Amino acid sequence: MTTVRRPKATRILIIYTGGTVGMVMDNESGALKPIGFKEIRDNIPEIVKLGYDFSVHAFNPPMDSSNMHPDVWIELANIIEKNYNDYDGFVILHGSDTMAFTASALSFLLENLDKPVILTGSQLPIGEIRTDAKENIITALEIAAARKGGKAIVPEVCIYFDYQLFRGNRSKKYNAEKFEAFYSMNYPPLAEAGITIKYQRQFILKHPEGKLKVYKKLNSNIAVLKIFPGMTEPMVEAVLNTPDARAVILETFGSGNATTAPWFIDCLRRAIQRGLIIVNITQCDGGAVELGRYETSVQLKELGVLSGHDMTYEATLAKLMFLLGQSLSRKKIVELLETSLRGELTSG
Ligand code: ASP
Repeated sequence: MTTVRRPKATRILIIYTGGTVGMVMDNESGALKPIGFKEIRDNIPEIVKLGYDFSVHAFNPPMDSSNMHPDVWIELANIIEKNYNDYDGFVILHGSDTMAFTASALSFLLENLDKPVILTGSQLPIGEIRTDAKENIITALEIAAARKGGKAIVPEVCIYFDYQLFRGNRSKKYNAEKFEAFYSMNYPPLAEAGITIKYQRQFILKHPEGKLKVYKKLNSNIAVLKIFPGMTEPMVEAVLNTPDARAVILETFGSGNATTAPWFIDCLRRAIQRGLIIVNITQCDGGAVELGRYETSVQLKELGVLSGHDMTYEATLAKLMFLLGQSLSRKKIVELLETSLRGELTSG
């Protein structure tokens, strides 16, 4: 860890995990591969002008975020816990591919967070002339440092990308090419950066009353069933009988609808009787599950399939891992799944 200290300056911890932001083209293979944080810093001398005290915790080796794993989320939560009292904010440089998963997971792992944790990255490596990395990093740092009345303006886990700040557990990578790689369909941006950074304070989480609590356990015994017209019973049975699975994310059509074919309903019934938790989220990018709105979801509701409301796939997955990781009764898990814990869902 490298540290530069100035008296009374805002203190930011940059955690560099990897991602395109710090990649160069490998001459032999022609593929992008990660480089160290030093090369990133050399390409962005402007950050010194911000006048903050920076420390850098760099992963060695840096990773492509497609290799992300729940153990790394715990590691990130531990790094934040260890440094929490020494810094005003945290910026995590991360590949865009799984950034929304990491942001969602951290939001659950860090209860009563009172400081900004801003994830960012880029679509083009920092060394490229047209890179989007510089703007993303500089503004993410400014947001992590922003305070009013002695308190952080954004006490949440967020993603900053292409002039927009989103709640982490509401975000999704939706475009593999555009600089505007993320959106948050079911919740407004928390800030937009133009000439100034305009914060939408009415949408930002309130400061917590309790002290930071960091959870250290995640359970990834989860299966995902994305339905489609023409799906077969063996496929559905295989997913629902995934060894050790404790929960299944059921990705349905529209507002939570699925085929009413008796074999399908029977498969779900048997799975629920075996104790599996089944959460229904929509395959649509925006909108919410509303069980019972159409005939095609009435039976799901009767069976005990839970509503994921308007949660993203990423948030649902992270929330299940988080809840299954705690020693909670099935009843409590079911209750908390349908409750907003960190602003991840809109109920009612
Ligand atoms: N594959 C890269 C990663 O997620 C893509 C990116 O950084 O944008 O690490």
